[in-house]
Amino acid sequence: MATATIIDGVSLAGAVKDDLVCRIAAIGGQVRLDAVLVGDDQGAVLYAKNQAKACEKVGIAYTLHQLPSTASHSQVEELILRLNNDNEVTAIMVQMPLPATVRTDDIQSLIAPHKDVEGVNPANIGNIVFGRRSLVPCTALAVMEMIESTGVEIKGARAICVGASTIVGKPVAVLLMQAEATVISTNEYTTDHDELTLGADILISAAGVPNLIRPEMVKEGAVVIDVGINRVVGADGKKRTVGDVDFEGVKKIAGFITPVPGGVGPMTVAMLLRNTVQAAELNTPPK
Ligand code: NAD
Repeated sequence: MATATIIDGVSLAGAVKDDLVCRIAAIGGQVRLDAVLVGDDQGAVLYAKNQAKACEKVGIAYTLHQLPSTASHSQVEELILRLNNDNEVTAIMVQMPLPATVRTDDIQSLIAPHKDVEGVNPANIGNIVFGRRSLVPCTALAVMEMIESTGVEIKGARAICVGASTIVGKPVAVLLMQAEATVISTNEYTTDHDELTLGADILISAAGVPNLIRPEMVKEGAVVIDVGINRVVGADGKKRTVGDVDFEGVKKIAGFITPVPGGVGPMTVAMLLRNTVQAAELNTPPK
């Protein structure tokens, strides 16, 4: 029985990072990503540490601004405005979650669109819908890059995106529409997943539900992109990270498949770095 080609996120991300080193050299100045962390959420702290390491490897300066969990909305607002107005700062990102006292939507809308490397300002999401050049949410970009890496034509393909969050599922669906695929977007209230997924040449799962996509739901030869990151306890009693897709079963049916870990995750980090360099290029006048 044939098995799917694995789309290796670590190797694709490595190629992106190599290219960024050249692009940063061509800019000839400092490229700087400033991250805002409010409180001490352990996941966010770890994410910030990993970002710092990833930035260092390609030559992006990384500055972390930490505020206590007691910080008020206006303190976070003031910090964002200061970073927006600082010409030394190329790119801004705000680590989630923010404390309940801070209005996340308002803070995201305040980030200057040309520095918004996570694509969370509605102006950037709007540009995607209009098909204009924009800073696109990193995970959605990672998904598109991974599909494109297979060489399978997106135009005219039937694509399904399971999960419709603002940060992943919706932008992925819109990007696929821009690429002229025929797109279905589903969510937890969709009743006939099995039937819908079976017709898809490209299947993306971004629901956060382990074992959601089973072999009988997948069209032979399809491109399967697994965005999910779920912590589960294995048969041996040990904790491990899995995606939404039954990887072992689905790889016998699909043409291409991303693993978890080692798939969309590393590529998302690479896209954050690429967006940072893109923000710098857009703001660097030609020599
Ligand atoms: P979310 O909770 O904001 O949205 C989940 C979406 O999936 C919703 O639209 C919901 O209706 C839908 N959904 C839930 N259960 C479903 C079901 N049984 N069938 C169909 N649809 C269902 O989540 P999110 O932030 O978009 O994240 C989704 C998953 O992707 C999580 O596992 C998250 O950890 C992972 N994620 C990974 C990366 C990465 O870099 N690899 C980045 C972001 C999120």
